[in-house]
Amino acid sequence: MKLILLGPPGAGKGTQAQVLAEKHGLVQLSTGDMLRAAVKAGSEIGKKAEAIMKSGGLVSDEIVIGIIADRIEQPDCANGFILDGFPRTLKQADALGSLLASKNKELDAVIEIKVDDTILVSRIENRARETLAAGGTVRADDNAEALKTRLMAYYRETAPLIGYYYAYRKLQTIDGMAPVAEVSAQIEAVLKGAAKA
Ligand code: AMP
Repeated sequence: MKLILLGPPGAGKGTQAQVLAEKHGLVQLSTGDMLRAAVKAGSEIGKKAEAIMKSGGLVSDEIVIGIIADRIEQPDCANGFILDGFPRTLKQADALGSLLASKNKELDAVIEIKVDDTILVSRIENRARETLAAGGTVRADDNAEALKTRLMAYYRETAPLIGYYYAYRKLQTIDGMAPVAEVSAQIEAVLKGAAKA
């Protein structure tokens, strides 16, 4: 199963990707996590990405496409994967399509997790607060200023992918406002439908 979870920051993509990964033995491919690991490791990619990520902007297509192209070649991806945070631009979506086509593979579904804009900000603020209370490190981009930039990047660059995948006949939209378990149940229903198709 090859899936994309699409949605704005704070929609719950990461949470749902984890649930799916555990339940179906799929690999969660989060470009955000991979980039944060690169920043932490101080690699060349990390050095290029750090300031952009901190501001809430998008890292270059070239970098993220390169990361994903390498990653989906790994043997653990043979069973399927969930893309969480990739693609985020039309160029990335085209590149993914070419990559999969070159292996005679196809996406099974693109799941749009729809959430009201008004609750995204409070969700992200809560994530930062909960992380702090648990003694963790808050993401450098979980603050009001970076969030504004992230949301703008989402609407400028990523939201067009909804129409793109609709036209590609892979888009399924679910209600991301429901509790986590209900959102998971909606995703399971979509996957059952995709398996039959
Ligand atoms: P995320 O954890 O998905 O919210 O990603 C955190 C940050 O990493 C984003 O705000 C971007 O700066 C960067 N990033 C992650 N995935 C991508 C992508 N597919 N394209 C460009 N930048 C990305």
